[in-house]
Amino acid sequence: MQDVPEPDGEVIVTVEAATTCGTDVKMWRHGHPALEPYPCRFGHETAGFRVDTGERVLVSDSVACGVCDPCRAGRAQICRDPTWVLGGFAERIAAPAGALHAIPAELPAAAAAMAEPLAAALHAVSRGSDSSEVGVLGGGPMGLMLTSLLVADGRDVTVAERHPDRRAQACAIGARAASELGRHELVFEAVGRPETWRAAISAALPGGVVVLVGGCPSGTDVSLPAAAIHYDELDLRGTFHHSYAEVDEALALLASGRLDWRTLAGDTITLEELPSALAAPAGGPARKWVVDPHR
Ligand SMILES: [Zn+2]
Ligand SMILES: [Zn+2]
Repeated sequence: MQDVPEPDGEVIVTVEAATTCGTDVKMWRHGHPALEPYPCRFGHETAGFRVDTGERVLVSDSVACGVCDPCRAGRAQICRDPTWVLGGFAERIAAPAGALHAIPAELPAAAAAMAEPLAAALHAVSRGSDSSEVGVLGGGPMGLMLTSLLVADGRDVTVAERHPDRRAQACAIGARAASELGRHELVFEAVGRPETWRAAISAALPGGVVVLVGGCPSGTDVSLPAAAIHYDELDLRGTFHHSYAEVDEALALLASGRLDWRTLAGDTITLEELPSALAAPAGGPARKWVVDPHR
């Protein structure tokens, strides 16, 4: 925790809620390519209001360049030169206007902040197939967001997760839960470890699709079961991030009430409580802390 000069940038936003995610823990423990060297500001799921107009806004964590090959091909998620907008764990954040999304009326700031990871989940689902029978490996916040979207889409979803609390959360959402994955036409990996990437591939039925949502630490080499990929014609698909339109779609979905964001909202905490919250060992129910910097 540091007192720092007022942020300087295009638009100043007073933060009302910034939610934590597994990436924050990774960033805090190991640094991250999108972060400056410590000490630096982070927090990338941020909602508040513009100091200049008072408009309620979600501050997206990135702005795509718009001119690189992927951007021009309509794949802003994998923009080669995005501007990262980090620093939500603060009283105020400066953002380029292009990072801002209007928050639908009535949607609480904590819910709006969660539109950022939900947009990534929407993108991940779009990378899958339309199989009605789906396995999700991992019942953390991302696995459960994927599950919520798939269940809302009328699919039959099984979540594989070791923690009983998280299995119960999956069941409450309307999925089945198991401690290990069976075989499925469509599999989402939402853990991000070499062994779970392999497990997801091994769980795909012949001709199936595997969407790798959880990122292994950069530099990781993963050995994969070649026979399954080759003889079973599996499609392995990476998925990363989201587009501007997907963030708006996530906000609209949360505002519609079709998805209950409260299932993943943990306690509201202060900035002072954040370091110990990030340091706490994972386990128990999947949840995202809601940081209210003005508490
Ligand atoms: Zn996140
Ligand atoms: Zn680009």
